[in-house]
Amino acid sequence: MTTALITHPACLGHEPPPGHPERPERLKAVLDALSGDAFCALLRKKAPRARLGALARVHGRSYIKNVLAQIPLEGFAMIERDTGVSPGTREAALRAAGAVVHAVDLVMAGEARNAFCAVRPPGHHAEANRAMGFCLFNNIAVGAAHARAAHGLRRIAIVDFDAHHGNGTEQAFGADPDLFYASTHQSPLYPGTGKNPCEGHVLNLPLEPGAGSAAFRRAFLEVLLPRLRAFAPEFIFISAGFDAHRDDPLAQLKLDDADFAWATEEVCALAGEMCRGRVVSTLEGGYDLPSLARSVRAHVGAMLDA
Ligand SMILES: [Zn+2]
Repeated sequence: MTTALITHPACLGHEPPPGHPERPERLKAVLDALSGDAFCALLRKKAPRARLGALARVHGRSYIKNVLAQIPLEGFAMIERDTGVSPGTREAALRAAGAVVHAVDLVMAGEARNAFCAVRPPGHHAEANRAMGFCLFNNIAVGAAHARAAHGLRRIAIVDFDAHHGNGTEQAFGADPDLFYASTHQSPLYPGTGKNPCEGHVLNLPLEPGAGSAAFRRAFLEVLLPRLRAFAPEFIFISAGFDAHRDDPLAQLKLDDADFAWATEEVCALAGEMCRGRVVSTLEGGYDLPSLARSVRAHVGAMLDA
């Protein structure tokens, strides 16, 4: 069994206003990075559209309707301070959430050991009834809810190593004792949440600006991985943002490509022990194109080797 790569050309058609960091070129860089011989073993799949019912497990139906209604027929519109939308956004957002749903199905069917969703817009800031921070739908939360509803899984873990706290994901599942959300992120930094280290099955590991590899790996080794193991997950999701890289313009965590490979290896090894290697990862942030490309190569390479 191999690693599935799930994406869709429509995810390139979401075009926030010129100069916005969350731009189509990010996904082009990711797909180019995964096109070489080293990645010929990937099982390449096109993302389907998420169905309304799948989105509605996480988002209010009126929110879904309203957010899609705000997408303009031409040009672009800002639907909140940071989140721009264009005519291609509807299709991109539906495919981005649909990719994670499809990834879960592929892994549960045994067609892939694990899967990476190369999609945009990202999702982890999107709350049940609020678009935020470049995110419309919480792709990973929609995938996790699908894993439960469609496959009867109960204990689901989400590991989020994006430089920003995944406020939307924490909100979606924070109160659920069968869901474990663990996030390493820079603090202080947007969106300002995730300062409480630990609440129930939420594990926030805020890192200071400039933290670097050693502090990141220590947080994983000493806290995150032992807690993840104790939770005994049946399925692990990764919110894979690469804006913690030292070259990224939006954060200052100063990680290297090798840190993303290492974190991925550790999570996949734990999944191999505890849940048949079931891991679904989805792209969140990462705004410096060369380091994004290298980091994705490191991340997906580690998934292929798992
Ligand atoms: Zn981020």
